[in-house]
Formats: sequence, structure tokens, C-alpha cells
Amino acid sequence: MPVAVGRLWCMAPTIMMNSPLDIHRLQGTADLLPAESFRWTQAEQVIRGTMLRFGFGEIRFPVLEPTELFARGTGASTDIVQKEMYTLTDRGGRSLTLRPEGTPSVVRAYLEENLGSQRPVWKLFYLGPMFRAERPQKGRYRQFHQFGAEMIGAASPESDVELIALGHTILRDLGMNAVRLHLNSIGSPDARRAHNEKLLAFLEQPDVFQKIDEDCRRRVQTNPLRVFDCKNEECVRILRHAPTIDQFLTAEDQEHFARVRHGLETLGIAYDLDPRMVRGLDYYTRTTFEFKTNLLGAQDTVCGGGRYDLLVETFGGPATPAVGFASGIERILAAVGESDVAPVALPRLDVFVCGLGDNARGLTAAILSRLRGLGLSADTDFLGRGLKAQMKEANRLAARLALIVGDDEIARGRFALRQMDGGGQSEIPADPSQWDKGLFVGVNA
Ligand code: ATP
Ligand code: MG
Repeated sequence: MPVAVGRLWCMAPTIMMNSPLDIHRLQGTADLLPAESFRWTQAEQVIRGTMLRFGFGEIRFPVLEPTELFARGTGASTDIVQKEMYTLTDRGGRSLTLRPEGTPSVVRAYLEENLGSQRPVWKLFYLGPMFRAERPQKGRYRQFHQFGAEMIGAASPESDVELIALGHTILRDLGMNAVRLHLNSIGSPDARRAHNEKLLAFLEQPDVFQKIDEDCRRRVQTNPLRVFDCKNEECVRILRHAPTIDQFLTAEDQEHFARVRHGLETLGIAYDLDPRMVRGLDYYTRTTFEFKTNLLGAQDTVCGGGRYDLLVETFGGPATPAVGFASGIERILAAVGESDVAPVALPRLDVFVCGLGDNARGLTAAILSRLRGLGLSADTDFLGRGLKAQMKEANRLAARLALIVGDDEIARGRFALRQMDGGGQSEIPADPSQWDKGLFVGVNA
């Protein structure tokens, strides 16, 4: 069936018709056009640059992984695993999932590549698309993008501080000044056990249990600590009276947390203590943190992380402490767009080549090739239009220079070089092999 999708034509082998096919991108996904994708590329460069300055190396792992990886690594009781995964069955009958987050893959790679035997501490970062079947809304998409960092092998409070400082620095480098760090410690398994008992007793009181929502009732069965993750206003109100983990921290947990706080104070990173901020899985331990902004409304968390000392063991590896975070790029760019940071503009084109007439058009490919070879950006008209339309195009591309190549110029052996910002016109030799970059730079560069 021949179809048209917007202006893009796909022809069937034999017949051509013109009925448009009703194909649209999926809800919660986006097309990024050049001006927007340029903003993304700039942001990604900032992220990569800061990661490298902090000594983190990039890891790239598959977008598609065995479902089991997330069932175990993200946790069977999480919203992600319970309701948000894009899972499919491949031809061999195997269950696969589009990655909803990065940490399980990093830990899988750490074990699979036997990284622990090569050096004691690994600092890794990633950047790329994640997939969650959520209800699309502002700041919440089905394909979204995260960058994240993981430090595997270090248990010290200073490594927590390093990760928080990294997140803080990247957000600042991206132009996000209006963020606030929320900090908590959810302690070690001993503290969690003691807290869990008291929390369960609280949640199972009939007048509490009847008032919390269905999700929270399920959490009472699967993982009570996660009730603190609930965003339902009534639940949040009731949970104000629930026992919080801070009252149950062991002496070692308290010492660890005090050193994290001291490290942050030394760096001048302000924080708010928030004893209800949890990462509720068994393998999360001690420090948890989030960076929030007041520029975005409801979806206000731009970065979340914490320590997960027990995850490597959950995957059958040796006891290996770790700490990490993940951050959502869409939310950050939206917040920066709301702030007064000037948006980055696409760079100007150096030279627009106006080829006038068939002779000139025979030369433009070689001219463009020479200009680009000199390291300049160069473009031309591909529609055989007249000078006026070509100058208009040069303006649209914000070209600095227009190189005019017509029959007269070819006959004289000199091309006209016009400065687009009204700076006048000069002539250059028609033979591109005689050009150097200096002929084209310096003027409004
Ligand atoms: P939330 O409470 O907003 O659902 P989360 O706890 O599911 O967040 P994490 O899994 O910790 O989020 O992911 C880290 C960051 O990734 C979030 O703070 C957010 O910036 C971003 N993020 C998560 N889910 C989405 C999504 N569906 N669309 C856009 N960004 C997202
Ligand atoms: Mg979520």
C-alpha cells in the first residue's frame, strides 16, 4: 500500500497512490528537530565533560535486557516492575524489557565483565533513553532520557559526598541554579528491621489501614517503607504520624550520615533533611538524596540517588558497596527553559555559496568540499533558484558570508564574497586550491 506520512513518501514497488497513512508517534515520546536537538547535544556535552572531570568513565549498555534483570535489580515490589515496564516476548519465547532505568544494567555489566577483580573502585556513568509505561503528562514521558552515575566498590561517606557533589555540579553547569538537595539516611538492615516492625504496627491499625489507598495497602504486604513514596495527599497526611527511620538508625549509620552531612557542609552544598524520603528496597542502604526544583510544578525531582550496598549481592556477586544517582534530562531542560538562562542558539553558517547558472552549479560541490575541508561550515542552494531567493536562504541560515559564483565571476576568474551583516563585498580567486581559512574568517566570526 503506497502511503504518505506528512511529507515523507514511501512507495510500494509497483503502484503509487496518495492516500495518507494515519501514523503518529506514540504518546509520551517526542521528535526533536534541529534547534531543540542542538540544545540536547550541548547539554549532553556539559554532562559528559563534568562526568569526565570527576573521573567517571562512560558505560554503554543495551536498551533491551532480559526482564529478570529488572524484576530482581529494580525490585518486584516497585511501581516500575509492577506497572511501568515495556515487556515483550521474542521469537524464542524469552521475556525482554526495554530498560526503565540504568542501575541494574550497570551492576550486571560489573559482574559479567568481572570488573571487581580488575580494580577496587569503579566510577561509571551513562546517558540515554529509558522507557516506562506511565500516564504521559508534563515532565513524565514514556521514552525519556536519563544520565546517571554509579560508584561501585566504595563504602565511605566521602563517596556519597562525591556523588552528590557530582550531581550538584552537573545541574549547576547545565544552568539549573534553583535546585534544593533533600537528604536522608535509611540506615542499615538492622535499623530497617526495627523501623519496619513499628511502621507495620502503625499501618495495620484499622483506622490507618482503611484510609490509605490501594497502592499503599499493597505496600503494607510487599514493602512497607515504600508507603513514604506515595503522592496521594490523603496518604501523605496520614503518614505524617508514622514512625520515621531516623529514630532507628544504628550508631554506625548515624556516624556515616554525620560524615556525609559534614562533607556537604564543607563544600557549601545546602540541604534539607527529609526523613520521609526513601528508596524502599531491601538493597538500598543509608544515604538517599534528591534534587528538587520549584520551577516545574508536580514533577519537581530532577535527580534521585542513594547508596545500595546490597544490590551486587542480590545478583549473586560478592558483598560490594555502591552509590549512585539518575537524573531526568527532559525535566532539567524544561526547568532551565523556565529560568532566565539565555537559550543556546544554533551556530551561524560560515559561508553560503550562491551558484547562479549551470556552469556555477557544476562547480559548487568542489567549492563546498574545499570550504568544509578548511573547517568552515558551508551550504548552498539545491533548487536552482535566483540570487534573491538564495540570499534569503543565506539569511535564514544566519550565514556570515555569501560566496557568489555566476557566469561573470567564472569568466573573470574571481568570485564575489559578500559580508551578510552589511560589511561590504570583496573578491577572491576562483581557484579553491588557492584558498586558506584566513580568507573567510575574521569577519564577524
Ligand atoms: P517520580 O517519583 O517522579 O516518578 P522516580 O522515583 O520514578 O520519579 P527515578 O527512577 O529515581 O524516578 O528516576 C530518576 C529521575 O528520572 C527522576 O527524578 C526524573 O527526573 C526522571 N524521570 C523518571 N521517570 C520519568 C518519566 N517518566 N519522564 C521523565 N523523566 C522521568
Ligand atoms: Mg516514577
